[in-house]
Amino acid sequence: MNSIPNDGRGEMNRADLTAIVDALLQLQENEVETTSIQSLLERVPDRLELFSTRLEDFKTRIAESETRMSDLQKGYRQHEVEIQSILARIEKSNEKLKTVKTNKEYQAGLHEIEDLNRLQSDVEDKMLECLEEIDEAESAAESERESFGTFSIQIEDEKVQLERESEEMQQKLRELLHQRELIVAAIDSGLLKKYEQVKEYTGAIAVAEVKASICQGCHMNIPPQMYNELQRFDRLLNCPHCERIIYPHGSLEND
Ligand SMILES: [Zn+2]
Repeated sequence: MNSIPNDGRGEMNRADLTAIVDALLQLQENEVETTSIQSLLERVPDRLELFSTRLEDFKTRIAESETRMSDLQKGYRQHEVEIQSILARIEKSNEKLKTVKTNKEYQAGLHEIEDLNRLQSDVEDKMLECLEEIDEAESAAESERESFGTFSIQIEDEKVQLERESEEMQQKLRELLHQRELIVAAIDSGLLKKYEQVKEYTGAIAVAEVKASICQGCHMNIPPQMYNELQRFDRLLNCPHCERIIYPHGSLEND
């Protein structure tokens, strides 16, 4: 690119002014793309972190269902101990029944054994329920482990993909920054300063086209006199509303 030393303030020919606006637009396009890539790159660590969090959450769920299963198994073993104790008490009561002297004692003994039998049956019911719950928990844990396998492969793929995208973006960013240096080198320093000031004022876009007397930066009407002057396109003008550097629609089409 040829150097464009003129800051476009003084009167100049249309071709030079076109080159100046063209360079500013290239700079603007470069910066918009750079900003967009930078903001995508900034989000990469959070996205990678999210992958780890999702895997950790999954592991926590598996650990929880394993804890639940071991609690159920522990409960089942406690019931087994309870049954042993009830059976021992039934045997003891049966022994006692053989030695009772009175009918009243005999009836009381029978009653005690009936109570113990009922207790045994209750505990056995609970054990059956417990076995069903263990079965359910086991198949839930199994299916969670299977899902985790698929999920972790998927996460790993997404992670690799993101890292690849991130490398591509970094490469693109280096290219853009290099390109920017070249563009900036060809722009007059005073004009560059003005461009930076306007950019600071407007946020991002410092150069705007004027189409049918409307500034495409702020969508306000350019006053007729200024619009006429803009049509001549023999010096750089700023939008009176948004301060953007403006150029008339169609002026860059004959490049
Ligand atoms: Zn404007």
